[in-house]
Order: sequence, then structure tokens, then C-alpha cells
Amino acid sequence: MSDLATDGLTAALTWAPGLDPLRAEPAWSDAMVAAAGLRAKPVTLVTVGGGLASFAVVDALRIRGVPTSEIRVVSTLLRPYENLRHLIATGQIQDRDPLRSDSASRVDNIWGFPSYAVEEAIRRFSLRPLWNVLTEPVAAEFYNPSPGQVFRGLDREADRIGWDSMLIAGRAELVRRRIEGGYFCLVHPVDHSPPYLLRSHYMHLGTGYPALEYAPELTEYRLRYQEFFNFVNAYEQHEHVYQVLQRRGGAILVRGAGITASRVLQRLIDDRDHSGQDVRILHLFHDPAEHPPGRRGSGPPAEHGWRYQAFSFPKSAGSGQLREELASLNSPDRSAMIAALSVTTTAKRRGWQRQLRRARSEGFYQAISGEIETVESSRDQRVRLAIAGRAGDGPVRLDVDFVLDCTGLSSRLRDNPLLADLIDHGGAAINALGGLDVGPHFEVRGSGDEAGRLYASGIIAQGGYLAPADSFLGFVSAALLICDDMAAQRACARLSLARSVVGWAKWLSGQAP
Ligand SMILES: Cc1cc2nc3c(=O)[nH]c(=O)nc-3n(C[C@H](O)[C@H](O)[C@H](O)COP(=O)(O)OP(=O)(O)OC[C@H]3O[C@@H](n4cnc5c(N)ncnc54)[C@H](O)[C@@H]3O)c2cc1C
Repeated sequence: MSDLATDGLTAALTWAPGLDPLRAEPAWSDAMVAAAGLRAKPVTLVTVGGGLASFAVVDALRIRGVPTSEIRVVSTLLRPYENLRHLIATGQIQDRDPLRSDSASRVDNIWGFPSYAVEEAIRRFSLRPLWNVLTEPVAAEFYNPSPGQVFRGLDREADRIGWDSMLIAGRAELVRRRIEGGYFCLVHPVDHSPPYLLRSHYMHLGTGYPALEYAPELTEYRLRYQEFFNFVNAYEQHEHVYQVLQRRGGAILVRGAGITASRVLQRLIDDRDHSGQDVRILHLFHDPAEHPPGRRGSGPPAEHGWRYQAFSFPKSAGSGQLREELASLNSPDRSAMIAALSVTTTAKRRGWQRQLRRARSEGFYQAISGEIETVESSRDQRVRLAIAGRAGDGPVRLDVDFVLDCTGLSSRLRDNPLLADLIDHGGAAINALGGLDVGPHFEVRGSGDEAGRLYASGIIAQGGYLAPADSFLGFVSAALLICDDMAAQRACARLSLARSVVGWAKWLSGQAP
């Protein structure tokens, strides 16, 4: 983190003896801040997070002519994809594997052209990627970029827009409305130097998933047995699981039905093939007959426990009929519809299908349905489980070497202290899906201020106007809407046709915006 910006803003404050009484106040005036011994230099926008959600907003603002000196990114990340890269890697997605978004959804390119497929075709001197997008999904599977492609593009765009010069290496403790207009953001630098304030007219929150989702059974198991080896979450480091199974074989229970579970199974089967060890895989699904709630019926039908869909949401939810329909609903109906649409699915890839067919026929993979009723650590260092099915028969008892839980990340806002504070003291409202209640321009409702705005995008704005809020497409759509709102208040330029064409040409030639 050493090369992050530590400019005059950080020097604005050294010690803040009066901070504690201020914390309880829902809004701060300049006089209150000064009395507390704090000073803050103003900028136009502060974004907290520094992941892809923040990056998309900053990129769109730079393209609309906002200089780097007017933007600050409060983050513990050096690169905007750092957290994604970590989660992808622990979820077993390799740099060259297909991701789960389409060719034109690019956080590093608001125009979506050239798409990833075009770029790859040029790089490889091959028509194959283009043929893929032309014939998908009928004659070919959907084209998906690889993490390597996505990260390379983000690096290039980060350099082009001067990302590093806007980064503030720190954690935002709280955001407070400024009585004179705008917001204050209290930052704790990562080097543990004293906290200081940023003051901005516009504030954006892109803090991503608040935490890893530890299943209650996993938490209880760990607390009870202090055992962290045999029962693991797929988004934490668990390489040892594969290594032990490669060395001596064994039985593993995998839980989950999303893209990570698919990729974890691929790794387990690949390793089994290479090592020749007797690895037996049990795969636990929720009852496959269970229909997701909501007015859109049952979602994709279940096959062998899985529900298949190319992307996390139907494509029309991002830019089409479904998006329009969602936008026309009131908040509770919209949340209900998004809940129905966001049932766990995975991509139907031929390679995975072939592997699982073979694994089933050779008898080393077995799908079971139900819920974990009890989980215990046995004396021989194995995990003993009781799985309750729906049929009402007695529980199925299993002894396995490992349990690998691929059921996801926590989107509970209160798991992030900054958001918990915003809800308790900043007046931010929550929608029925548990996301921050945002308006059509991703402005956080309830925290509003005529002379400034607080925006939120990414998973923390789930249940809002855009269903795929936590996706490459969602970040860019949100960023464009946020900038439109700021342009209406003259905080940045409008994206006119001329500006867009010039902006695209600069993007293409790698010139700074
Ligand atoms: C395994 C996986 C695969 C995915 N694959 C795809 C895909 O193929 N296609 C697609 O479109 N989407 C995909 N996504 C979804 C989406 O692209 C990612 O979730 C994305 O990285 C989220 O970006 P973000 O900026 O919202 O959050 P993050 O990348 O998590 O960044 C937010 C950052 O904010 C920090 N933060 C939190 N609170 C504070 C604070 N108070 N102060 C300072 N910093 C703070 C966090 O520590 C974090 O580093 C995938 C997600 C996962 C988990």
C-alpha cells in the first residue's frame, strides 16, 4: 500500500480529541468539525470501497471531464479487482477460465466496444471468438471473458484515468451529512496514522459484500471443536483439501449449486483423474423440487439438483424488457421479483456436464438433497453429519473427510460497520431484499440532501432498480446513471454524442480522458 496517495488531504489533520462526541451526531456542521479539532479539504466526489463499483463511477466521471484532483477513492485495495481476484482464486476459477458475464459487459470500457471477444480475436489473430459471439447460444456456448482478460483491461484503464493518484489508503469509519451541504467521510489510514476527514459534495459507496457467509453449522462446528481443517468455506483458503485428497483419497461433501460449486467439482474430478486416488464426492443440494418464491414462477427448472442459466440474471434484466418491468414496480414488488430471479444457478457448460455424467456413471459422485441437521467432529479426524431430507424419513448419516461449503457471501449490510452506522445514524433506508433503498439514479433514500448526494452501487444496492446490481454490467449502468444525476446538478459534463465519440477515440488510443 506504500504507493497510495498521501497528499495534502491526509495532512489536514493530525489529532482529533473531539471526535467521540461528534460520532453520535447525525449531521455535522463546519463549526462542529472545527471545534473537534478536525479540518477537511473539499473534493467533488469521494467513493468508498475501491473495487469495481467504485472504479466504474470514477471512470465515468473522468470520461465526463472531472479531474483526478476532484475525486478521492478510500480503499484498502491497490487494484480495483484485488478482492474479486482473491475470491475467484479461492473459488477455484483460474486466470484463463471463463467467467460468468458476456463479451460486451466491461467495467473498463463504458461503450462495451470493442468487446472482449473482438479484443481476443485481434490478440490471437483468430476468428473463433467472433464466431462464438455470432452463434451463441445456439451453436456455441455463451462467450465469457476470462479473469486474465478482465484484469488486464482494468489495469490499462486504471493507468489511463490516473486511478493511483486518486487512491487514499484507508478505511472509512463513518459518513455524515454536512449541514452546509454534502458529506464528511472519516478515514482511518491503513498505516495507523491519525484519522482524518474528507469533505465532498457527492459521496459514493461501493463497499461490496460485507463479509464471507459462514453457514451457521460451520460457525457452530468451529466454535465447538476449534477445528478449522475439515469443514471449510469455499471462499477462504482451502488448498489443503485438494492436496490431502490427491495424496490419499477420501470422501468429501460439497454443498452449493452455483458457479463456485461447479468449479470446485471440476477441480476435484480433475485432481482425482490425475492422482488416481479414490476420491468420493457427495453433493448436497437444497431439495431440488423446491420452487423459488415470487411471481415469476419457478425460475429455471432443476436438473440433477442444478438450475442452469447463462448469467446470474436473465439477460433482459440488465438491458431489456425485464429491466423496464422492474423499473416500473414499487419497491416491495421489485424486491420480490428480484428475489425470485436471483435463485442460485450455474452455467450449463458442456465440459462440466460431461464430467458429471461420467462421475455419476462411475459411481464416485452422488447428489443428495436435504439440509444439514447435525455436524460433529469424530475421533478419527473426520466429519460426521446427519442430513435431513424432506420426505420425513430419518436423517441420512454420513462420515466424510471434508465438508466444503460453497453457499456464498454475506450481503447483510450490518456486517459492514460503515453501513451499520449509516443505517443507524445516517437515516439510510433498507429495501425488502436487505439492500440500501436506492432511487433510479442509485441515490440512497433517506440520507438525502438537496445540496449533495449519497449514492450506492454493487451488491449493497441489491433490490433496487437494477436486478444484476453486482455484475460488470450493473456497475457500469449504475455509474452512468449516477453521472447523469450529477450532470443534472452541473457537477460534471453531460455525455453528449460528441463527448462520447471523442471519449471512445481516446479510450481506443490509450490517451488520458
Ligand atoms: C467469485 C465471484 C465471481 C464473480 N464473477 C463475476 C462475473 O463473471 N461477471 C460479473 O459480472 N460479476 C461477477 N461477480 C460479481 C462482481 O463482479 C464482484 O462481486 C465484484 O468484484 C464486486 O465489486 P465491488 O466493487 O462491489 O466490491 P469489492 O470488489 O468487494 O470491493 C469493495 C471493497 O470495499 C472495501 N470496503 C468495505 N468497507 C469499507 C470501508 N468502510 N472503507 C474502505 N473500504 C471498504 C472492501 O474491503 C472491498 O475491498 C463475481 C463475484 C464473485 C464473488
